[in-house]
Amino acid sequence: MANAFFEVPAAINEPVKSYAPGSPERESLMSCLEKMKVESTDIPMIINGKEIRTNNQIKIHPPHEIKHCLGHYHYGDKSHVKQAIEAALNAKERWANTSWEHRASIFLKAADLLAGPYRDRMNAATMLGQSKNVFQAEIDAACEMIDFFKFNVQFMTELYMEQPESGEGMWNRLDYRPLEGFVFAITPFNFTSICANLCAAPAMMGNTIVWKPSETQIYSAKVIMDLFKEAGVPDGVINIIHTPGPVAGDVCFAHPELGGIHFTGSTATFKHIWKSVGQNIDALKYYPRIVGETGGKDFIVAHPSADRKALATAMIRGSFEYQGQKCSAASRAYVPQSMWEEVKSYLKEDIESIKVGSVEDTSNFVNAVIDERSYDKIKGFIDRAQESSQADVIFGGKCDKSQGYFVDPTIILAKDSNYETMVKEIFGPVLTVFVYEDSEWETVLKLANDNEYALTGAIFSQDRYAIETGAKALENAAGNFYINDKPTGAVVGQQPFGGGRGSGTNDKAGAKQNLYRWVSPRTIKETFVPPKDYRYPFLG
Ligand code: NAD
Repeated sequence: MANAFFEVPAAINEPVKSYAPGSPERESLMSCLEKMKVESTDIPMIINGKEIRTNNQIKIHPPHEIKHCLGHYHYGDKSHVKQAIEAALNAKERWANTSWEHRASIFLKAADLLAGPYRDRMNAATMLGQSKNVFQAEIDAACEMIDFFKFNVQFMTELYMEQPESGEGMWNRLDYRPLEGFVFAITPFNFTSICANLCAAPAMMGNTIVWKPSETQIYSAKVIMDLFKEAGVPDGVINIIHTPGPVAGDVCFAHPELGGIHFTGSTATFKHIWKSVGQNIDALKYYPRIVGETGGKDFIVAHPSADRKALATAMIRGSFEYQGQKCSAASRAYVPQSMWEEVKSYLKEDIESIKVGSVEDTSNFVNAVIDERSYDKIKGFIDRAQESSQADVIFGGKCDKSQGYFVDPTIILAKDSNYETMVKEIFGPVLTVFVYEDSEWETVLKLANDNEYALTGAIFSQDRYAIETGAKALENAAGNFYINDKPTGAVVGQQPFGGGRGSGTNDKAGAKQNLYRWVSPRTIKETFVPPKDYRYPFLG
């Protein structure tokens, strides 16, 4: 045991590489991608450090090239879920008793491995498996994941240093124990970094994990597991299983040792999780910590004073980067009548210049959506808008799944502010615009506020009074609020991320607030010279 109070290296955000033509990073990444594309990867589950293979193998295809096969993963069943829970519980005592500096060291090492030798593989896997272009992969799979590891290590030490006052004759202390039981991490397809963080944040605080990734992210999940292993995460601390969500859920939500759930995904799934835990509460030993970041219907509200070109650029970037499959993606915009024609002309110019296609052609801004189910759902919204008298598809609308799941960036003009694409999460490259009378600023703020979600939102204005009234009126409409910027692209350590209402428990991923959820503090009061007479002075 060490006898010093160690200081961890100060966290700084990982610089984003440019991947400009001719840059060494571009050459290195693209050659890694070419190599990975032709390898057929075999992806087992990992339970207690052991590779588990089954007879049920599922092929993996890039969403932008569905005839190509990247390899396969081994599909498991209930027995594997039970084995993973056992492994997590068996690894718990030793891991929980490992000093914090060694836990920190493992994740700092993971960050440095990812910044160096793992960077290309993590980015290439995210590009091939989840159809992210070079830049979207770099800001997610490399930079954000590195930031999550480094900043959380710093936040962990800040949290441990929070200690109570001590009165005379006593010493009060707070000990931050990991939760009892295991933590179940259930992760989405769209951010490789979120998947790693949902496991790493509770593990860093001394918990052990059962990880069920989304079926459409398993290709990059393998690289995450390789990274954890090389960084020194001990066997059994993070166990990955590949099963349908409900199969893993049914076992975990009813397991007496369920200590916590770290979820990111859709609102419907999260509501199901919450209900299942409630129904099983009598079988559980603890009240599990339930942390969930879920869906969004993120907005941009423009005031008549807004900078029109900046507004149009934010609408394009905010709505169409990563095919609109960011929980923070702008998907409804309120634009004043007086500027609509001008803004529309900028949008048209931009949309006509956007190329859609494979990630291997780096001039493509938009790539494929994640899978056929998602493609069909997005196309359904576009088809209905094309037929509706309440909406017009003014740009894009073309969908083609012959080679990959491609949906062109699409803008719908809604005549009704409650038209379905103004209120429902689509999770694709579709932005709906509602044009309002300039005099209706206060009314439009109410419209923007009136939604089941509250994740991200932006206002554009050059009028300080309008910014103030807008920020106040939309106080609860977004957990991440932007002024004169697109509502996407939160950076760890700078804009802690998460929302309320139907968008989640707002525990702010990559911030100290999130780490509090993975510890159970124990207050210790030590009295140096305890009293030896029960009588208080007032009795005399
Ligand atoms: P999803 O809800 O379909 O799946 C998420 C995970 O839940 C997957 O691993 C899935 O297999 C699992 N799952 C499904 N049913 C389950 C069950 N009954 N029991 C246990 N697990 C179950 O979400 P997705 O399509 O992967 O991700 C997209 C969604 O995630 C969008 O709604 C998006 O807004 C949201 N998201 C939110 C944030 C945020 O920070 N708020 C970030 C990223 C994504």
